[in-house]
Amino acid sequence: MEKQVYQQTKDELLKSFDTNEKLGLSEQEVLIRTEKYGKNKLAEAKKRSLFLRFIDQLKDFMVLILIGASLLSFLMAILEKKPEEMFEGGLIIAIVLINALLGIMQESKAEKALESIKAMSSPHAKVIRGGKDLIIDVADLVIGDIVVLEAGDYMPADVRIIQSVNLKADESALTGEAVPVEKSALPLEDLNIPLGDRVNLGFMGTVVTYGRGLAVVTSVGMDTEIGKIAAMLNETESDTTPLQKNIAQLGKFLAIIALAITAVIFAITIIEAYAFSNAPVTFEVWKDALLTSVALAVAAIPEGLPAIITIVLALGMQNLVKQRAIMRTLPAVETLGSTTIICSDKTGTLTQNVMTVQELYLNKNTQKVSNLKMTPQIERLVSYGVLCNDTKIREENDSFVKIGDPTEIAFVDLAITLKENPITINASYDRIHELPFDSERKLMTTVHKFKDGIYAVIKGAPDVLFKRTKFIDDNGSLIPNDAHTIKEFETANNNMADKALRVLAIAYKKVDNVKDVSKLSYADLETDVTLLGLVGMIDPARPEAKDAIVQCKKAGITTIMITGDHKNTAVAIATELGILGKDDIAITGHELDLLSDDEFAQRLAHIRVYARVSPENKVRIVKAWRATGLVVAMTGDGVNDAPSIKQADIGIAMGITGTEVAKGAADMVLTDDNFATIVNAVSEGRAIFSNIKKSIHFLLSCNIGEIVTIFLGTTLGILLFGETVTTLTAAQILWVNLVTDSLMAIGLGLEPKEPDIMDYAPRDSKKSIFSDGLGFKIAWQGLMIGLLTFAAYYIGYTLHFDEAIAASQGHLAASEQAQTYAQTLTFMVLAISQLIHAFNARSETHSPFKLKMNKFLIMAFFISLVLQLVTVAIPFTRNIFGIQVPTLLEWGLIVALSVTPLIVVEITKIFNKVSKKKKTNL
Ligand code: ATP
Repeated sequence: MEKQVYQQTKDELLKSFDTNEKLGLSEQEVLIRTEKYGKNKLAEAKKRSLFLRFIDQLKDFMVLILIGASLLSFLMAILEKKPEEMFEGGLIIAIVLINALLGIMQESKAEKALESIKAMSSPHAKVIRGGKDLIIDVADLVIGDIVVLEAGDYMPADVRIIQSVNLKADESALTGEAVPVEKSALPLEDLNIPLGDRVNLGFMGTVVTYGRGLAVVTSVGMDTEIGKIAAMLNETESDTTPLQKNIAQLGKFLAIIALAITAVIFAITIIEAYAFSNAPVTFEVWKDALLTSVALAVAAIPEGLPAIITIVLALGMQNLVKQRAIMRTLPAVETLGSTTIICSDKTGTLTQNVMTVQELYLNKNTQKVSNLKMTPQIERLVSYGVLCNDTKIREENDSFVKIGDPTEIAFVDLAITLKENPITINASYDRIHELPFDSERKLMTTVHKFKDGIYAVIKGAPDVLFKRTKFIDDNGSLIPNDAHTIKEFETANNNMADKALRVLAIAYKKVDNVKDVSKLSYADLETDVTLLGLVGMIDPARPEAKDAIVQCKKAGITTIMITGDHKNTAVAIATELGILGKDDIAITGHELDLLSDDEFAQRLAHIRVYARVSPENKVRIVKAWRATGLVVAMTGDGVNDAPSIKQADIGIAMGITGTEVAKGAADMVLTDDNFATIVNAVSEGRAIFSNIKKSIHFLLSCNIGEIVTIFLGTTLGILLFGETVTTLTAAQILWVNLVTDSLMAIGLGLEPKEPDIMDYAPRDSKKSIFSDGLGFKIAWQGLMIGLLTFAAYYIGYTLHFDEAIAASQGHLAASEQAQTYAQTLTFMVLAISQLIHAFNARSETHSPFKLKMNKFLIMAFFISLVLQLVTVAIPFTRNIFGIQVPTLLEWGLIVALSVTPLIVVEITKIFNKVSKKKKTNL
């Protein structure tokens, strides 16, 4: 019987998968295998077809009634052979269909934007192909690929491990087992071993938590264990944001109000027709009343608002990518702007992550690298730093190419500066065992064969190593560790740290008489060590971080530094950057552990620097801040940072240095690892949110305007004209809704950032967006638009009625003619005043003329205006909309009434500014 992959030896495995450990597969072979086995992707749920999505747009109850009523009127017109009336029904149906089409276009635009961003943050895997180390999309992996695994990676497919250096994986996603499993490269003998015990296999989607290794891909995509369980990955799951949920709820509430008003309008019209009208009540009256009121309901219910929010968020997301921040979820984009606390890592985010060794301490002497005299002891320190080091070094054109962690590269650079060849050092002393660095232990150990035996070389945080020191190497002779000598080391460490240097200690331990070195653990190697010396390296602050912190202060955002580094180093950098003020404090992770939750909560607001933190400390810090109700952003990069990243409102992962797991847990990935980018993203987040508010402001006030216009016609009409009047026909209402709504709302969603967006304290994410006066503004501005539009009707009617009577027409004919003109004016004023009103919504405080130009809004304005004017310019459309060409005087009137909201709102803005100035001067 053929052996299972976990039973095979390495050679059998490589042979059966026809691959090579050192070279991997060739590109050609990869193509063949991709063709054969498909992409390494879990199947996604099928997208809804275009037709179904179209139907979705139409299935709204009100839209159905509207279509039904229009069809009815269309059929009636055919039966009665009244072609001019056929138009109305046809027109309504056409507008409804165009609206549905627009809806789909918007939806797919938002979807495309989201998909392209999702693709950007898709996970990557490290493979060896054609003898080269490559980083590729996980989806491009094929069976037989050799993958390199490191702590913080996701298992990119189902794999068989062929090399394991302390490799451990968290398989809880698959097996429920919370404790990481140690992974081995050895074959297993038994057949039918349960999944969780197949320790030489790795399963797609589980997490490498520790160590490193090599593995062969054995199955991909739906053939993997996770693929078998999750037959379908339902990625279309909706990603609704809190605001969208609120707005959807508000929409329902507004729908009820709109429906109630519509019902009232309908009822009044019918009652009035029966009770007061002299003319007989025909089917026509019923049909017109129904069409108008249902059209009003369709126009006034802001059913498109959640979709518009999605579009604005998705477009904002695209813009953020250009600013080097990839947002992974829509809700996070929405929350981003209300960020109040930014907890940032120091190394690489606030600093440049370019380390240069500046000082050494050994033999009781601190020396500057710039004028160092080489001694055998220094040579030893330097070569230990190169040996206990994972930097990949190549020689190319007489210089060294180094890939690795900047802290480690600093040791290699030191060797090069001192004219030592790091490649030769590494080649001279084979590494036979290692305990990789992790931020919990803050140590790294490698074991080598030296001339006089086997030695472990240990480097790491000095304070940690001091506690494990048994001897101190003083010029080659070993002095037993005593309080005095270690004190000298501590002072040297503090002195370097005070100069903002990151300090690492180097120690060693002889390990003789050991049968199997590879079994040696921390307890064997990292205790009772001999301390050799200290190395201090500078990692300069990012110049742009300082400005960003000033900006944060102005914007009411608190910056907190969290670092694995020494407290003094952290304090020095935090002071330089302006994070740590006079009354602020810095504490270590250990000091934090000693605080009770209450004590911590009391001090929380004053602690600006946390040093020597563990990943658990980070989670506690995020939780404590979140308990205050503020919106917290937290950065991270390592595999252990995933819990704190998840815990934060905005979890941020480093795009360059971050592990796949940190990126997978994050809401935002920084493609440049830069603190300034976070602050910039927050300001963009504020702009996105304020743009959503602008769209809502515009849409809701316009809807109110539409309702008021029709409502006044029905109610005030009785007082003014002795009967209810139809200020707008159903087709006119729907048309206004079509040309003014979405395009302008999206235009507003693309407003450039207002200049003072970071001059205010963050928005309280729990408060309704309608507080702070927006609700009131929407109400009165909507009312104003409605009143002005009704005024247009009144004036138009009066002018033409008197004119018609003077031309000795009968009362009924005069009234009919006057109504057509009045409706024309209403139709024009409602549409144009709304288009102009969009400019009011550009800013709640600034004049639209003083803001940066928004070419999208201007384009939307002209497109919409032209569409509106076309209706009156062409005889055919005039006919189907039932309107007339206004006179010059009436055009003047239309313009005057339409610009009035702009003038009035401008005046209130000036007034508010003056009164605010007065208040601040008091
Ligand atoms: P942050 O990015 O959160 O500011 P950090 O990068 O300073 O943190 P860690 O990488 O966890 O934090 O490092 C913590 C400490 O561990 C360092 O101050 C240093 O003393 C030690 N250290 C860092 N890198 C290594 C390494 N490669 N080998 C040994 N020790 C290391």
